[in-house]
Amino acid sequence: MPDCLFCKIINGEIPSDKVYEDEIIFAFKDINPKAPVHLLIIPKKHYPTLNDIPDDEMGIIAEIHNVIKKLAHEFGVAESGYRVLTNVNREGGQVVFHVHYHLIGGRQLPT
Ligand code: 5GP
Ligand code: ZN
Repeated sequence: MPDCLFCKIINGEIPSDKVYEDEIIFAFKDINPKAPVHLLIIPKKHYPTLNDIPDDEMGIIAEIHNVIKKLAHEFGVAESGYRVLTNVNREGGQVVFHVHYHLIGGRQLPT
């Protein structure tokens, strides 16, 4: 998607601190981290929101969670704990309209 910030990050048009890449998933450090570990995990295919992923393509969400699990170990928060979240649309707090999951950890997060 030409005007999408995260599509530009995937194709290297906009630089990012990449932490993982395979054929279908890309992950990088959040530019404005809310905790010592704050990563964004995204599908390479552009979907504006979770609502836009067709039922028969929802397997990408399991793949994303598998990468999240690996990154949690790599970044040392698997045992201490971390939070995984995705914001959907305006009232959900979504700002960038390319599906992304936040992996946040490295400090005590509020309940
Ligand atoms: P949202 O509120 O849409 O769930 O989260 C978007 C996230 O993307 C925010 O945490 C924000 O800090 C991050 N972000 C926005 N622009 C950039 C950027 O250009 N590079 C990186 N690495 N992160 C970004
Ligand atoms: Zn995109």
